[in-house]
Order: sequence, then C-alpha cells, then structure tokens
Amino acid sequence: VGSHEAPVCVGVEVDGAGRVLPLASGRADDWFDSDGQITKRPVRALTLSALAPRPFEHLWDIGGGSGSIAIEWLLSDASLTATTIEPRPDRAARITANAARLGVERLRVVPGAAPAALEELEPPQAVFVGGGLDADLLKWLTTRLPRGTRIVANAVTLEAENLLISAQAAHGGDLLRVQLAETRPLGRKRGWQTAFPILQWSTVS
Ligand code: SAH
Repeated sequence: VGSHEAPVCVGVEVDGAGRVLPLASGRADDWFDSDGQITKRPVRALTLSALAPRPFEHLWDIGGGSGSIAIEWLLSDASLTATTIEPRPDRAARITANAARLGVERLRVVPGAAPAALEELEPPQAVFVGGGLDADLLKWLTTRLPRGTRIVANAVTLEAENLLISAQAAHGGDLLRVQLAETRPLGRKRGWQTAFPILQWSTVS
C-alpha cells in the first residue's frame, strides 16, 4: 500500500450467525465457548487494558479456562504471541478450538499447573493470573520473572484477595476493586443483579 492510499481491511472474522468480530477487547462472552469458567466481558476489557499489549510482546495466561484472555491479547495485533497454561484437558481442548475459530491458531496451550509448568516456557513481557493463585505462584512470579515484566492478577475469593493485598504491601503496584451490577427483571419491574466483586492487582516485576 502506497503512502497516500488509505489502509484496507484485509480480514473480517464472521461467526455462524453472520456477526462481525468487534475490534476492541471485551468482546461478548458468546464468542468464546466455555463451561461457565470465563472472565466476563467487562472484567476482561479491564484486564486487557491492564495487560496493555505492545507490538511483538509475549503473554502468559495462567489458568486459561476458555482462553478468552489470551485470545483477545492475540487479536489485538498480529505481532503478539501467547502461551496459556491450563491443567484440565477438557478446557485445554476448548481453548484450542476457540483460538482456531477466531483465527489465532498461534496460541500455544500448555497442559499443566502453574508454577511447575512455567519452568520451561519462553519468558513473557506480560503475565495474567486468572487461576491457580496461591502463595507459591506469587512467590515464583515475583522472584523468577525477568525485571520489567507486567503482572496482572484477578481475585474473586477472600483468600485470593488476601494474597493480593499482601502482595501489594510487599511489592507495590495498583489494586483495583471492581463491583459491577447489571439490570435483571424483578417481578414486573427491574433490579440490580450484582456480580461477585473482583480485586485486580497490577504491578511490574
Ligand atoms: N480467564 C479464563 C477463566 C479462568 S478460570 C477465561 O476467561 O476463560 C480459572 C482456570 O484456572 C480454570 O480453568 C482452572 O482449571 C485453572 N487453574 C486452576 N489451578 C491452576 C494452576 N495451578 N495453574 C494453571 N491453571 C489453573
């Protein structure tokens, strides 16, 4: 394309219902097949924003689930790469299928549990912890990752929140509390259905 020509759209992902895949992260949950274990759209959008992909970077998505975080990372730019770690074979297979359906076959799916499964992996520039958050994993990440690696971890349980609150005291970084509510029918009227609150820790190793 010459310097005076407008850029052209070279690929548009369309699902079975003829829907066009939106360009921004935080795509509707139903683009990703899941068993219910999926970071929901609004929290996923906040998570990709915190992960902040830059060209040519590599992501570790620990606790892949449906793969939605790693897949949205890869959809952000063709230069990006990602590895997801997921111990459940059924979920690992679902991640591979989701990635193929959305055109990001370059996602590497590692079956296994963190932190053991991290030992042999190519070093990342960004790490997301969506599952397997415990003291061992946090210790591994804060001592073994190359300096300058961005880490983002989401907690739903009080036990995981405790770990992140202590991690911020020890290592710094930012804590973001997210409490979302959506409207639902309540009899013939409407009410707020609140989701579990999320605590998100973002830091740089
Ligand atoms: N972010 C995912 C959802 C994560 S659910 C998505 O958007 O789809 C948490 C996942 O972490 C589950 O699939 C669970 O099997 C996985 N998990 C639990 N312990 C783990 C560990 N030690 N290492 C890696 N993954 C783990």
